Amino acid sequence: MSEKLVYGNISSEQAMHLEKNYGAHNYHPLPVVIAKGEGAKVWDPEGKEYFDFLSAYSAVNQGHCHPHIINALTEQAKILTLTSRAFYNNKLGEYEKFITEFFGYEMVLPMNTGAEAVETAMKLSRKWGYVKKGIPENEAILLFAEGNFHGRTISIITASTDPDCRVGFGPFTPGIERIPYNDTEALENFLSKHADKVAAFIVEPIQGEAGVFVPNENYIRDAYDICKKHNVLFVADEVQTGIARTGRLLASDYAEIKPDIVILGKAISGGVLPVSAVLSSKEIMLCIKPGEHGSTFGGFPLACAVAKAALEVVRDENLIERAEKLGKIFRDEMEKIDSPFIEKVRGKGLLNAIVIKPKNGIEAWDVCVKLKENGLLAKPTHQHIIRFAPPLVISEEDLMKAINIIKDTILSLD
Ligand SMILES: *Cc1c(COP(=O)(O)O)cnc(C)c1O
Repeated sequence: MSEKLVYGNISSEQAMHLEKNYGAHNYHPLPVVIAKGEGAKVWDPEGKEYFDFLSAYSAVNQGHCHPHIINALTEQAKILTLTSRAFYNNKLGEYEKFITEFFGYEMVLPMNTGAEAVETAMKLSRKWGYVKKGIPENEAILLFAEGNFHGRTISIITASTDPDCRVGFGPFTPGIERIPYNDTEALENFLSKHADKVAAFIVEPIQGEAGVFVPNENYIRDAYDICKKHNVLFVADEVQTGIARTGRLLASDYAEIKPDIVILGKAISGGVLPVSAVLSSKEIMLCIKPGEHGSTFGGFPLACAVAKAALEVVRDENLIERAEKLGKIFRDEMEKIDSPFIEKVRGKGLLNAIVIKPKNGIEAWDVCVKLKENGLLAKPTHQHIIRFAPPLVISEEDLMKAINIIKDTILSLD
């Protein structure tokens, strides 16, 4: 070993070698190993510092190892971690009251991962469809938008239009249909034919994995109105866009609507534990009865303490306002870069992307490798898009430093 280790006891090379040999190859990571994180920065085992412009797909909006959240974790971990829902615990109800008031909903159903919360919303919508709307048994339709990303379970990938997600994993779940995203006419057409069987339209207010695809300004508002007209639930998947990321608490807030069901995950725990949640009204939530749905860990005391602390950070550190303000600076500075490699800059708040125009064999992946060498971590999504989503706690000074790394890197391409 030539280089001295600063963090941990194995080198970057050894860590990558171990993952390659002993772990499933279901990811293709950028060749960088993270050994420590604090705020908007991470370090590799050899001590090289990077700005984290992925934030674990927006799960660490509050920054790495936020002291308030870590304190809640360690304090609660000493007292009680898991009870299962066979018994009450003294943390769940307090958290449920807190999170429902925080987001302005009547009830919450706690789960762990984002995909589980999406599945929960799908089941809840179907149940509502049968119990309240009167859809004939086993005929409910769940409607999704093309280009979506909602997770990796069989039913969720049934809704996907990405071949990488689907090929080789069929047969798929019945009762799932898709229409084009950002197309209210397609929604109106579908619902005017099938509304009596459609339980819900499940949609991302901004498509994150699709490459931070921001729909037309009125799309979400109009889609919501069309759903209301046809007595179809409007379900917003805010797993990536929620929790202040886009400069609003929820990205749906831009449309000034209140979705019937909101799906949250990722940053709801500040990236400390897998915590997810489904928010809705009593009218909808109480369609699910005891024994009909659940999860051993869903709503466990440790998660309740951590998620409450993570939301307190969003409130106490004004992360909504920060995301809006810093996002504007970021996009303005990106627009100023005069490079043939940049096709487009788009996003809201601190959820942004640059669309790269591949040239001379250089693609988004190569740009990300160069950014990494220059001290900034970002990940391509699809072939030609780079998402930039730093922790919302990043200082303006660090943001400017990071912007300069991106500028210098892009201007050095040829
Ligand atoms: C990440 C993501 C999910 C899935 O969350 P997991 O925790 O990875 O299961 C669902 N919906 C959206 C919009 C996401 O970005």
